[in-house]
Amino acid sequence: MVPRSRGGVTSWENVVAACSPCNLKKANRSLRHSGLHLARMPSRPTSEEMHAAGRRFPPHHLHQSWVDYLYWDVELES
Ligand SMILES: [Zn+2]
Repeated sequence: MVPRSRGGVTSWENVVAACSPCNLKKANRSLRHSGLHLARMPSRPTSEEMHAAGRRFPPHHLHQSWVDYLYWDVELES
């Protein structure tokens, strides 16, 4: 994977979610040089997997367990 800060693309295979402490620790290093390990390899979900995931949540609902993973980068990039 190529860090986005080094021109890496925002794709299903190149970007993963991480909590803020882990993301700060990784910074702009490659995964190999970060000392971090992926919980699972990123991959593009099939449309069936996307629909199955979507059915588990009501529209516009943000599960509490995702609060630490989302929105913080909006502040960094604005
Ligand atoms: Zn973490």
